[in-house]
Amino acid sequence: MPFRDLIGHERPKSILRAAMLHDRVAHAYLFYGEDGIGKRLAAVRFAQAINCDTDYDPDGPDACGTCRSCHQIEARTHPDFLLIEPDQEQTNPQIKIEQIRELESQIIYRPLIGRRKVCIIDEADRLTLGAANALLKTLEEPPAHSLFLLVTSRPFALPATVRSRCQGLRFAAPARTQVEAALILKREIPPDDARFLAVVTEARIGHALQTDLGAARAQQEEFSSLASARSLESVTTLLTAAETLARADRATEALEWIARWVRDLVLVRIGADPDSLLNLDQLSMLKETVRNMPLDGLLDLLEDIEALQRSATRNLNLQMALETALLRLRDALSVPAQAHST
Ligand SMILES: [Zn+2]
Repeated sequence: MPFRDLIGHERPKSILRAAMLHDRVAHAYLFYGEDGIGKRLAAVRFAQAINCDTDYDPDGPDACGTCRSCHQIEARTHPDFLLIEPDQEQTNPQIKIEQIRELESQIIYRPLIGRRKVCIIDEADRLTLGAANALLKTLEEPPAHSLFLLVTSRPFALPATVRSRCQGLRFAAPARTQVEAALILKREIPPDDARFLAVVTEARIGHALQTDLGAARAQQEEFSSLASARSLESVTTLLTAAETLARADRATEALEWIARWVRDLVLVRIGADPDSLLNLDQLSMLKETVRNMPLDGLLDLLEDIEALQRSATRNLNLQMALETALLRLRDALSVPAQAHST
């Protein structure tokens, strides 16, 4: 797949293509932006475009995706291509100084078959301090034929000295409709499911391509029924559900789905495009729920639930956070008082 066919990312793509076309490719770039939106894939495509064997097309340099060089980069067997990433086997995955030393020993040589020695450092924010310092020395005086592509969703976790040696390129999630189109094509799923996955992953294409559709649909059903007016009627039901979910280590997930449900309520209340709703199939229930609710109250509710999500990851008291969220939801939706006793 050519570099230019990456989904979304129009701005970084045009900057990189212009750099290639005018032979102004920098020695180091920092690809940053939220997790799971295709930054690493963009870096691999860029590496392929830089070293592609095929003659350039009239629109400028690109990756053909089919030549030996493109294949070898995809398979990570290209002699001028390195991909460094944290060791995911570790409990706290890090990029260690040994990995940077290994990289240094290879990057000093001229490219064997390509135009540049390209090194991708994925999750660059996980460099140890020692590794970052070693890398900094190389970035300060990069070999003429080298190209470094640092990829991160947490750019500010990188030392400022390393950041300042790289040209920063911000990546943003593609438009939801672009993600839907890609999902229909690549996962061969119906438009309804593609829309659902695009919304549930907030258009983070990397996640959308990998999320288990059946499991996500089952969760949606489970949590939208928990947030329904009928289940909110009984405090006992809510507390039991919170306890069961917390015991199964699912409280974080439950809080996330409750927040999504409330976001849907807000969207319905302000008359947003129904296509942006996660729980589109529950549209009539959502409409019924917000019919007499002031927008202020809904926004307060959303704020409270998001605050609970944030604090629960810190204090680990997830069951209590989940109980509070459910009771808060019940209060906000003013479930009739006569149901209190059940
Ligand atoms: Zn190629």
